[in-house]
Amino acid sequence: MKVPFNVLDRQYRMYKNEYDEALINTMESGWYILGNQVTSFENEFAKFVGSTYCAGLANGLDALILAFRALNISTGDEVIVQANTYIASVMGITINGAVPIFVEPDKYYNIDVKSIEKAITKNTKAILVVHLYGQATNMDEIMSLAHKYNLRVVEDCAQSHGANYKGKMTGSFGDIGCFSFYPSKNLGAFGDAGAITTSNQVIADRIKMLRNYGSAVRYENEEIGYNSRLDELQAALLRVKLSHINELSEEREKIANYYIENIKNQKIQLPMIANDCSHVWHLFVVKLEDRDGFVEYLKSHEIGSVIHYPIPPHLSKAYSYLDLKSGDYPIAEKYADSIVSLPIYNGMTNEEVEYVVEIINRY
Ligand SMILES: *Cc1c(COP(=O)(O)O)cnc(C)c1O
Repeated sequence: MKVPFNVLDRQYRMYKNEYDEALINTMESGWYILGNQVTSFENEFAKFVGSTYCAGLANGLDALILAFRALNISTGDEVIVQANTYIASVMGITINGAVPIFVEPDKYYNIDVKSIEKAITKNTKAILVVHLYGQATNMDEIMSLAHKYNLRVVEDCAQSHGANYKGKMTGSFGDIGCFSFYPSKNLGAFGDAGAITTSNQVIADRIKMLRNYGSAVRYENEEIGYNSRLDELQAALLRVKLSHINELSEEREKIANYYIENIKNQKIQLPMIANDCSHVWHLFVVKLEDRDGFVEYLKSHEIGSVIHYPIPPHLSKAYSYLDLKSGDYPIAEKYADSIVSLPIYNGMTNEEVEYVVEIINRY
């Protein structure tokens, strides 16, 4: 048997008729940018997250860039972020001229809340919380630190659509929630797409203006903006997927639970779930000493795997100007060398899941 790391057409086929109808209706409508589909998706997604507002954007990186821009976080300001995140989280900070201050992750791969306070300086303006791999972060501790030090909170929810902390959705805690709908994300579009959620009307209006050349009224430009709109076709397709998001999350959870109950191999450390933090299993990440040997072993049995992520942002060439070096964030660096993600996706068959377990148990 052959088990690819991910296959995206299966989840298209699950609801093919609904997607096809949404696509054709939108094309027939003659309205392709900022119309009813985007407005309806924004309303539905805000409701899903439990925020008052949503603004549809072109992608997840733009959501992060516009979030910090709307909070007026720029040159010289510091933003605290975990050292093991996807590099786009950090780019959202630095494209605005702000400085990322890295903090080590905890054993759940999310930010180590206990290390945040030590990283706060007089220049700290915000904490960027990444609900990494799909698991919600402990938001009580984050929000109380934010109140104590008067910091903004931005949530990177690119991997956590539908994950909640104590029953409240990720993306509804901070000033702004940033979402990506990149095709492989839990709520994936059929191309690039993203959004922000917020319950602050001033922020929502500003981001809607910034995504459209800094203009709310046609040809009147309040400030220098971007072109970063979610388009009508993606919005129409996302509305279909959003209507099935609970089933889709349950399917991922079933696979994750099967892995957790059936992978029995001393060499492999399974993911752990923190109290009160729900996990929507964007990725199923295991950790082991001989990671590279294990990846080769999986490959020899035709099982796909991917490392999320092999180079922590502080060691990436793009951030050489920060002058950080190997050894500065040993936990994040150790993770980068010892983690690997197993196949988990909508449309994965029982036979495939069982095969992965069987091969892993023989390793
Ligand atoms: C995917 C991702 C992004 C970027 O989203 P795009 O839509 O690909 O720009 C940002 N942060 C995290 C954690 C992601 O996984």
